[in-house]
Amino acid sequence: MLIREELCTGCRRCIPYCPVGAILVEEPRRVYIDQDLCAECGTCLRMAGCPTDALFEPSEVYEKPRSVRKFFSDAMATHKETLLPGRGTEEVKTNDVTARVKRGQIGIAIEMGRPVLGAKMTDVEKVIMRLAELGIRLEGNNPLSHLLADPEKGTLQDWVKNERVISAIVEFAAPAERLEELLGAIRELAAEVDTVFSLDLITRFDDDGSIPVLPVLDRMGIHYRPNSKINLGLGRPLREE
Ligand code: SF4
Ligand code: SF4
Repeated sequence: MLIREELCTGCRRCIPYCPVGAILVEEPRRVYIDQDLCAECGTCLRMAGCPTDALFEPSEVYEKPRSVRKFFSDAMATHKETLLPGRGTEEVKTNDVTARVKRGQIGIAIEMGRPVLGAKMTDVEKVIMRLAELGIRLEGNNPLSHLLADPEKGTLQDWVKNERVISAIVEFAAPAERLEELLGAIRELAAEVDTVFSLDLITRFDDDGSIPVLPVLDRMGIHYRPNSKINLGLGRPLREE
């Protein structure tokens, strides 16, 4: 995002709308956008109601490398590769329809970055590389999969690495018996990345209605908040067995 200097009155109205604090003031009155911090989320343009139309989005934000910021940070934009909007796939919330996580598997989504902090793609790469060492491959529909240089090593393409987004989700499925090992590795990673992340753990109920992963979480001392989402009436009934 940019500000047309000749139109900006310095009213500062746009500043509180920026989720990453990229709109800055240079005294006495000049308001400008730090291009390294700006995640191209478009919130200031859509929400601030700039009285002079000084805010504008140059077409370059839809081209490499800036497009990485745009497509991960702006919920109104769709990734060119997946034609899906947002930070991940559908964050496996519709698993009852898509069946990406099957019986005997767990799904893990590592939601990296959030408003204020954002996430550097170098940190996202660090997580994917560590998982790749453990033999984990990303969910194919996740936009990060399309930015990999080497899926075996988990490296991202060079042009992506200097970019920063509000949030990106590393998603994958794995055999359920690897849960403890994978959570242990993710715990170690938490100390190495320079942002916050939350962890989604996706599992299916056992036939008796119990949640099979909970004993592992209890043993590891991990706090959890079970949340069931059932999309009745959406899509085809799931028939995988
Ligand atoms: S709202 Fe518009 S005029 Fe006011 S500081 Fe922001 S860009 Fe400048
Ligand atoms: S596009 Fe988003 S990140 Fe960039 S200045 Fe506007 S609100 Fe901030």
